[in-house]
Amino acid sequence: MTVELISVGTELLLGNIVNTNANYLSRKCAELGFSLYYQITVGDNEERFCKVLKEAMERSDIIILTGGLGPTQDDMTKEGVAKVLGRELVMDEHSIERIAAYFKFCQQGEASDPDHIPAVITENNWKQALKIDGCMVIDNNNGTAPGYIVENEGKTVILLPGPPSEMVPMFEEAILPYLKKKQNKIFVSRMVKICGVGESKAETELLDLINGQTNPTIAPYAKESEVHFRITAAADNQAEGERMIAPLVEELYRRFGVNIYSTKEEETLEEVVVSLLKEKGCTLSTAESCTGGLLTGRLVNVAGVSEVLMEGFITYSNEAKQKYLGVKEDTLASYGAVSAQTAQEMAIGAAQAASSQAALAVTGIAGPEGGTPQKPVGLVYIACYLQGKVSVRELHLKGNRSRIREQSVIQALDLLRRCLIEP
Ligand code: ATP
Repeated sequence: MTVELISVGTELLLGNIVNTNANYLSRKCAELGFSLYYQITVGDNEERFCKVLKEAMERSDIIILTGGLGPTQDDMTKEGVAKVLGRELVMDEHSIERIAAYFKFCQQGEASDPDHIPAVITENNWKQALKIDGCMVIDNNNGTAPGYIVENEGKTVILLPGPPSEMVPMFEEAILPYLKKKQNKIFVSRMVKICGVGESKAETELLDLINGQTNPTIAPYAKESEVHFRITAAADNQAEGERMIAPLVEELYRRFGVNIYSTKEEETLEEVVVSLLKEKGCTLSTAESCTGGLLTGRLVNVAGVSEVLMEGFITYSNEAKQKYLGVKEDTLASYGAVSAQTAQEMAIGAAQAASSQAALAVTGIAGPEGGTPQKPVGLVYIACYLQGKVSVRELHLKGNRSRIREQSVIQALDLLRRCLIEP
């Protein structure tokens, strides 16, 4: 079954607001297993609106509309749908009662709150009590504009209010159960998260599986320095879905091995690293130059990191690297601040200064200035000290300053993860 979204609002076309409704609804439709091939945004213009709705109804089974249900003149979604479907707009008694009750409730608030904006029913508020003949009216518990479901010759048109604070609860409470009934399969999915393999290489490794996919399906998602694959099975129940997914997950493990850091939807790389540190009873310190605290910040995202994280050193200058981490003057003079030798001494120095069993160090050139032919922007060294052993990686990263810093953090976390799982 195919779904299409139409977001209505000139504000969206002008870039005044971000279309979070479309983002939310697309995710929900994917979770429900509907195919969504088109998302349209159209301004508050009835002629153009009717045109896109007609086109959408020709190619999709379910059309979800958001916005333009309000009381003002430019709100014309309902009127446009009625016109396209050739139906009348009729007064809905239930909506009249609800609108009256809503304003009464607001006026009570007014009496007890002197700053309250006066809530007076104006003539155009009653426009919101008009419904498309023969539709289902969906109560709005967070505003005055009701939603509507119209079934028409095998197609369904769903009208939802624009404000996300009204649209999301209405979708969760009424539309989701309605759509679930239309979908006889349930969708079970698993995310396989990979770090340390480029996006195109990872996809090439799986080309045979991707090309031959039917059910389960495999879809790649590229993230900063990571690639995620979502495996989704359409099944009659959860257990069957899990059974269908399991062999594919195993196959991905066969192909990517330790490059896979998680198969849990919500689990982040830093959470995996912190869990491993706890498992091994290992404490950590950090020494950061070009990332300037970003690495430690990522680790501190993880609740409970205090059990393992000892100290973080931001040593941007050469003096700081010597003073806090004991990097040798000779090393800095001979190899420079951005070098494998300096990264190594930073990691050892941090572990010693913080008395931790592990330490991560990052030093590099984030740009846009400061690069040379020998040491270009994007050259970054990361070092991981773990119980007496140091591993260093040289990275050649692409992108602007913030991307280089971001990628350095991910690579450093991944290096530590690999050191921790090494046999
Ligand atoms: P109301 O009942 O408030 O009149 P409405 O259905 O007429 O709602 P609009 O007038 O189109 O909705 O939009 C009202 C507000 O809702 C916008 O100013 C904006 O803040 C928010 N909004 C509308 N559409 C979207 C969207 N697609 N994504 C995010 N926010 C939106």
